[in-house]
Amino acid sequence: MKPVKSVTVLGHKIKVEYTTWDDGQWGSCDLDNRSIKLSRQCLKDDEQHWATLVHEVTHMIFGMAGIAYMESNSEEAYVRCIESLLIPWIMENYSLKNK
Ligand SMILES: [Zn+2]
Repeated sequence: MKPVKSVTVLGHKIKVEYTTWDDGQWGSCDLDNRSIKLSRQCLKDDEQHWATLVHEVTHMIFGMAGIAYMESNSEEAYVRCIESLLIPWIMENYSLKNK
């Protein structure tokens, strides 16, 4: 997977940048600046790159939708569920859609 310069999320252009974190962080999402940062480490592994992009886009969608601002926010758990369970299921079963 090549480096991604931007993605469109809910009609908004989101800048994607690559950086290096000392603590092994894979990504971050900045709702106010409409930007996502991914670790340069991602560029060595297509699966990790895709999974991290999906993870940060999910944070962006939760932020845009207001879910990130719930009083009791278990966002990381919701994001993990969507990223690791829902999206793979959709991709594996997409062919069902037009049957
Ligand atoms: Zn997260």
